[in-house]
Amino acid sequence: MKKLFLSLALCGIVQMGFGQVVDKSIDIPDLDKYQTLKCDFHMHTVFSDGLVWPTVRVDEAYSEGLDAIAITEHIEYRPHKKDIQADHNRSYEIMKDYAKNKDVIVIKGSEITRPMAPGHHNAIFLTDSNPLDTKDYKDAFQAAKSQEAFIFWNHPGWDSQQPEETKWWKEHTELYNNGCMQGIEVANGEHYYPEALQWCLDKKLTMIGTSDIHQPIQTNIDFNKGEHRTMTLVFAKERTPEGIREALDNRRTAVFFKDMIIGEEQWLRELFGKSVTIEKINKNEKRVQFVVRNNSDLPFYLKKGEHDANLIYFRTYTIEPKSKHTITVKLGDAGITSGKVNFEVTNMVVKPGKGLDCQFSF
Ligand SMILES: [Zn+2]
Ligand SMILES: [Zn+2]
Repeated sequence: MKKLFLSLALCGIVQMGFGQVVDKSIDIPDLDKYQTLKCDFHMHTVFSDGLVWPTVRVDEAYSEGLDAIAITEHIEYRPHKKDIQADHNRSYEIMKDYAKNKDVIVIKGSEITRPMAPGHHNAIFLTDSNPLDTKDYKDAFQAAKSQEAFIFWNHPGWDSQQPEETKWWKEHTELYNNGCMQGIEVANGEHYYPEALQWCLDKKLTMIGTSDIHQPIQTNIDFNKGEHRTMTLVFAKERTPEGIREALDNRRTAVFFKDMIIGEEQWLRELFGKSVTIEKINKNEKRVQFVVRNNSDLPFYLKKGEHDANLIYFRTYTIEPKSKHTITVKLGDAGITSGKVNFEVTNMVVKPGKGLDCQFSF
């Protein structure tokens, strides 16, 4: 008995060691015409102020089921440079070769790291990071632009640089007008910036969400609790660097931040429709039942919308990930045979403070 217990215990240890019990990959459905790619376009390694070797970033991304990452070392801030002596392209080169065996797309980027204004910006899809090492920030942006980089403003509400409010400066107008800003981080790590969401909507900029990870990822993210890094969902025609770039240029993204999806209404509406499908509608004169399935790993929080007073249904309702639900709507005495059950999906954010309006019809 003792021996049996010991061998079981050993099995347990082996499983804990090699079993990879925690599934870190998050299932998010594709859209009709586009694949949904999980991407993180902002991260660091020891080649700037991060604390891991570049290959670790690829392993992390692979184990989380990410499709693509961009490496974005600071150009101007390299606290390990006494130990790590290399040019600005080196960490990308190390990652690129290693990523081939892991099926993770690695994109070359750099973080132009300046005081406010204009603050920090990532230039991704660079061909050579070294020309961005300039005295005047405007020359760095021009160097990135001349390489046809995709440039986005990082953590615009970072309190070290914007202590009072998340403000758009005249320097940003200049960058924007000069074709040196195509997107903004609507969320970075633990922070969401509603102001940036509004700017993206008003100025037709691409919404980006990133981890900006410096530590090993598990230091910040507790995968055992189902947490995930902040990321960008890219709705791409193909799973290639070119496919990602085309989607970014055409603003087909959403930001996955905690249990929120933030983005333009058209993409969020389609994503909700692909995630939550109605399997069956049971109807009699007293009530309607919607049998719905959530095919995704995302939860959806519903809140009752404007509705016919004869439809009596939930005030709030949570559709848990990967689950089946029967949602009952009682019918009043007016003899209703058809109608619309309106609700807001409060964690699919289409404007600051506003969720996606949806309906089930019967
Ligand atoms: Zn930064
Ligand atoms: Zn950064």
